[in-house]
Amino acid sequence: MPFREIAGHDHLKQLIARAALRGTLPPSLIFAGPSGVGKAMMALALAQFVNCLAPVGEDACGQCGSCRRITRGVHADVLRIEPGDTGSIKIEQVREAIDRAAYRPFEGRRRVVIIDQAEQMGVNAQDAILKTLEEPPNSSTFILVTDTPDTLLPTIRSRCQRLRFGRLSPGDVAAVLIGRHEYAEADAHAAASLSDGSVGKALEGGSEDFVGARMAALHLLETVADDPPPGRRIMGAMSLPGATKGKADRDALGQSLRALASILRDLAALGAQADERAIANADLRPKLQRLLRSFDNDRSLRAFAAVDRALNALDRNASPKIVADWLSFQI
Ligand SMILES: [Zn+2]
Repeated sequence: MPFREIAGHDHLKQLIARAALRGTLPPSLIFAGPSGVGKAMMALALAQFVNCLAPVGEDACGQCGSCRRITRGVHADVLRIEPGDTGSIKIEQVREAIDRAAYRPFEGRRRVVIIDQAEQMGVNAQDAILKTLEEPPNSSTFILVTDTPDTLLPTIRSRCQRLRFGRLSPGDVAAVLIGRHEYAEADAHAAASLSDGSVGKALEGGSEDFVGARMAALHLLETVADDPPPGRRIMGAMSLPGATKGKADRDALGQSLRALASILRDLAALGAQADERAIANADLRPKLQRLLRSFDNDRSLRAFAAVDRALNALDRNASPKIVADWLSFQI
């Protein structure tokens, strides 16, 4: 997939593409950043760009034989190594890549070796690749993709140029879910708002759970907006998935609370006239605007802090029902 089809990371795309065009791309790279934000896809886009037969400006065409073979994972010069069934990358996998990299590219201009989840290389495998990273063969580029760069050997880290990937905006995550994973719009926004800027994380949770958690969180805020009597507050809290006694579920309540935090963060951002892209639940905007009448900035921030404390209490094994009860009086 070419650069233009990858969500977010505009600055990095430009940096990488221009370095490749000028021939100044470092031969050994680490793509570091949270999981599920598109690091491995970016590595493949780079492999496509440097081998594309008909590049368009600063991007691959995505259509030529070379681009298509890379997308299908069958290009002779683009090698992607991943952990096997054991969860680790074996030294044999690394040795094979090193051996192949010693020869000139077979069909393309540049050989690209992508080591996905590079932190899963054991010490021996890392030692084996060290020398190659230090003096890479002329027409090869090595890209180590990892969420936890600091667990790589310091000697490996010092030989590679590190590019840091940030989180995606909620809007970018939602766009990927709709465009590539056939999510309905409301489901996509619900999942994106709870994804911490990671498409991978959004895909992990079932979209139905996300939607339910977000609707319940919104309902609770609407219930408490006008400072109702205690009974109604508690009823509102009990409607959060995972809060009800008997069906108490720590994970489900945790997701409800994160949905609540996400909405409260939006209310604070809307109150402060923040940039539209900062709003995670943009599809709920009319409802958020209505809530703003009751939730001024102070209240939103106070409630946000309370949700944070509630999440901490859940982590420390407090009863879901007690946490939800307590929270209903703090927001
Ligand atoms: Zn192409």
